Order: sequence, then C-alpha cells, then structure tokens
Amino acid sequence: MSTANRVASRDGVTLVARDLAHVWHPCTQMKDHEQLPPVPVRSADGCWLEDYDGRRYLDAISSWWVNLFGHRHPAINAAVVAQLQQCEHVLLAGFTHEPAVALAEELARIAPTGLTRCFFADNGSAAVEVALKMSFHYWQNRSLPRKRRFVALSGSYHGETLGALAVGNVELYRRVYAPLLMDVLTAPSPDCYERERGESWAEHSRRRFEDMRALLERHADEIAAVIVEPLVQCAGGMRMYDPVYLSLLREACDRCEVHLIADEIAVGFGRTGTLFACEQAGITPDLLCLSKGLTGGYLPLSAVLAGERIYEAFYAEYAAQRAFLHSHSYTGNPLACAAARATLRLFATTPVIEDNRRLAAHLAARLAPLAGHPHVAEVRQTGMIAAVELVRDRTTRAPWPGEERRGWAVHREALARGVLLRPLGEVVYFMPPYVITETQIDFMVDVATAAIDAACA
Ligand SMILES: *Cc1c(COP(=O)(O)O)cnc(C)c1O
Repeated sequence: MSTANRVASRDGVTLVARDLAHVWHPCTQMKDHEQLPPVPVRSADGCWLEDYDGRRYLDAISSWWVNLFGHRHPAINAAVVAQLQQCEHVLLAGFTHEPAVALAEELARIAPTGLTRCFFADNGSAAVEVALKMSFHYWQNRSLPRKRRFVALSGSYHGETLGALAVGNVELYRRVYAPLLMDVLTAPSPDCYERERGESWAEHSRRRFEDMRALLERHADEIAAVIVEPLVQCAGGMRMYDPVYLSLLREACDRCEVHLIADEIAVGFGRTGTLFACEQAGITPDLLCLSKGLTGGYLPLSAVLAGERIYEAFYAEYAAQRAFLHSHSYTGNPLACAAARATLRLFATTPVIEDNRRLAAHLAARLAPLAGHPHVAEVRQTGMIAAVELVRDRTTRAPWPGEERRGWAVHREALARGVLLRPLGEVVYFMPPYVITETQIDFMVDVATAAIDAACA
C-alpha cells in the first residue's frame, strides 16, 4: 500500500470513529455499528461509491431510491453550480424565481393531464402531509366538514412524520407511535404475492378491490381521500399489483366523491416503466406527490400537484379564510429546483424510458434462475424495481424467523463483495440508477446470489 493510500485509509477509520461519537443515523439500531460500522464514502461516480480504502460499492438501491442518472452527473452538477452563482435561496412567499416557475411549468406539462397547480415542499413526508391537509381542507372549504377521514392500504408506506405515518401501515415503523396517530381506514393491499395459485395479477387485483369498493361505499360521506402508492408498495417490501386496481379505484373515488392521492414519491420518474406509474392505468389522481428522484438524487425537494377544482376551492377574498397556509422554510429552494430541471431535461433529451425497458428485460433474464432457489418464494419485477422474496421454505412459503436477520446478513455479505443492497426485512430488492450497464447488472445479480447463498446457509 502506498503512503497516500495508507493515509487515506487512516482518515477513513478516523472518520468512522468521529461519526460514532456524534452522528445518530436514520433507520438504524446504532448498536449494530459495533459489528458493522458505517461505510465512509469518500467519493461517488456513476453507479459507484468509493470508500477511503479505495473499495468500490455498486449502488444497487440508488442511495435510497433517489438517484436516477448516477452520482456526480455532469449536466446536473453544472446546473446546480450555475444556479449557485445566481441565487442560492429565497423565500417563495411573496417572491418567486425562474427555477421554481420553470419547474412548475414542466411538471404540469409532463404529469397526468389536468394537474396544473404545483405546491412545493422539501421532502417526501412533507409532501404527503401537504396532500392530506389539502384534501381535508378542500372539503372544509366546500362546507362538507364531515369528510375528514383517510383510507390507506395495508402494507403502505408514506413517510415518517405523524400524518404520513398514520396513513402508513408497516408495523415496524408505526407500532411504537400508534397512540399518537390519527385513526385511518385500511383496505387490504392488492399485493400479488398473496394471489391464489393460477390467478393472474389482474384477477387478484380486481378481487382485492372489492374490499376497497365496499369500504368507500360504506364510509363515503366521512372520507376525504384514499392514498396509495401506485403499482409498487415500496418500503412495505416491494409489493406489486396490477394497474387495473388504479382504474377501478379512480372510478370508485369519482362515484363516491372522494379524492385520490397518488404517492409517486418512490415510483415516479420512470421507475415502473412509464414516466409516472398512474399512466399505466390511464388515470389522473386528484393530488400527486413527488420527491426522491425529482432532483436526480441531488437535493431535497418535493411537490404536490393538484388540478384547478381543488385550487379554486382555496381561491377567495382573504377575509373568507380559505387559504392554504402551509409552508416550509426551504420551500421551492432554487438549487434543488435547478437540479430537478436538469434531471427532467435528461428525460426530454435521452430515450430514458426505452433504455430502461432494455435494462429491465436484462435484469429479469439475469434474475430468472433465482426463482428456483430453495430459499426464494418469488422473484417479481415492475420496470426498474425487482425483488426477491426470501423464505425458510419455498414450498410452504414459511418465512425466516425475523430475529435471524437473514436480510441484514445479505446486506453484509453483499457489501463485502462490493454491492450496496439493503433488503427490506427478507425482501432483497434492486432499484439501480438508470445509467447502470448490462455488465454492472450481471455483477449486481451475481453478488446478490452469492450473498443470498451465504445468508441462507
Ligand atoms: C420515501 C417515501 C416517502 C417519504 O419521503 P421522505 O423524503 O423520506 O420523507 C413517502 N412515500 C413513499 C412512497 C416513499 O417511498
């Protein structure tokens, strides 16, 4: 090892020690770091993260689903730097700026038809809070104050703040806080892992919709909105369903006069094979939540898109007290908006969706053999999201006991082999940046397979 490398390596060790003295990490039992310290990242490039020892890790989960075009993309870098020379931040109340205006125009242009109004916030959970409050407030303004409840799906995830957590249904995240959360109506997820033998995704999704229909019809006069993650319930374990569920839901929401909130924070921007997942059902939600990939994974930003009907219910003389007074300090931050515009320009100037179709097909072909693995119950995929369901016994689908932490073992084994995977429980999933190559997909799947073998031994 050269002197320079030895110094870098020592810097990495020091950095981890300093980290563990002061940084409290998200979604982490900090004691786990006694066994597996955090990886100190010195630089990132394309699909790769590099640590202080020069070891490289393929970012197979797009740094928590935010990165679309790789790390340090030249065009996004340039856009953020240019904006930095112009104006770093200014409040968006009473003032405006080109990056926010142009981004709102562009989102209105590419989103499902009719979503013409753009309300900015600064992270996904905040967008969900905005959508819930907007829906509730709309019905107040329309003098239907009884419409104040929300319907969510089992296995759903919408973020960590208390409103978002309340409409979420993943026990691991919500259990402790349950006494603090508003009461929500829950319909069973159309999750196709639960379909009967021989049943198609569409048949299963239709059948599961009957519970939602009944719930909506029974409670219509007290429901403000239904919130769903279109096509893939991501944090709940990459649970997938057929677009027909969304078409049926749109019809039922219209019939029952209930808002449909589409949380495309994770599935938006090409993840599922179309720019927005809702397109596959040909529907427009009443409110659309966007974040994560919106800035290409550069800066925190979110947006809630609404149509004119909702907007107009808030538009009145000040004295009528109908305004939506929600705000966040960094709402519509110009640097984040500039990163978002550069990201959307990449969609406009390169055939991202078509290229992804080829990459997704390659990923499917490479994952196919895992479907026969003795500890794999299912391999499923929607566009650029693929998931492998690990179980103790594939014939009975008996799960691994949670305390054995097989998913965490996959994470450790994959890291040691140069791939960042972060399974959700025992669901190993792939959500790579769109700039991944077929060779990198091969490497990613080979490592995942070796890690699964080691973790299930
Ligand atoms: C990640 C996520 C959120 C929350 O976004 P944050 O920026 O992490 O607050 C909300 N909804 C869905 C579907 C998500 O995947």
